[in-house]
Amino acid sequence: MPASARKNTRRIERENTVDEIYERIYVAILEHRLHPGTKLGEERLADIFGVSRARVREVLARLAHEQIVELFPQRGAFVAKPTKEQARDVFEARRLIEPAVLRRLVDTLTPEKIARLRQHQELEADAHRREDKRAMVRLSGEFHTLAAELAGNSALARTMRELCMLTCLTIFLYDAPTSTSCRNDEHELIIDAIAKRDRARAEKLMLAHLDHIEHSLDLDSHAVDVDLEAIFRE
Ligand SMILES: [Zn+2]
Repeated sequence: MPASARKNTRRIERENTVDEIYERIYVAILEHRLHPGTKLGEERLADIFGVSRARVREVLARLAHEQIVELFPQRGAFVAKPTKEQARDVFEARRLIEPAVLRRLVDTLTPEKIARLRQHQELEADAHRREDKRAMVRLSGEFHTLAAELAGNSALARTMRELCMLTCLTIFLYDAPTSTSCRNDEHELIIDAIAKRDRARAEKLMLAHLDHIEHSLDLDSHAVDVDLEAIFRE
């Protein structure tokens, strides 16, 4: 095999797929390691992940489709910076969708589903004990996505995933930098209500929970410089 072909084989072996790069960027944003407004340079990301710029563009297009990334002609891709108005829209949508998610979840409840929720709650509690802020913020968002997945409606689950990510960006922009997105004990109370098949209480707790998150937001945003290479360095 000629040297150039061997080199190509090695490159393909260690090349990251679109899914992998998407997931790395998605989790970095969810964990607040990548901040709203950060420029996602094609060339730098291509270098970091060892892939072509075309592949990076594919990932960025997918993130843009989910409103996680904003694309500007001539300027490139940036982590989305939802405005206050968009933030209010996100909470309005969540207040409509999440009670429906919980109703469906209670109607289709199984011991396995409750076990999954309890397991997740345990992970959240553990992250709190370890004071692992990155895990706390990611897991608190994932609780809501998990509830939608367990409710068994794929369209609701997809929508919740997007709304949770937008909430995550909003919290970073408009909340105190040290706080996390959800209070762990409120998730526990919601799970207890679901386990008792108490739809009304579960819905009421969820709406109160969303109110608490929305009311914790303020108008100050925080501009921060970031080092893309450091964020993705293994
Ligand atoms: Zn929550």
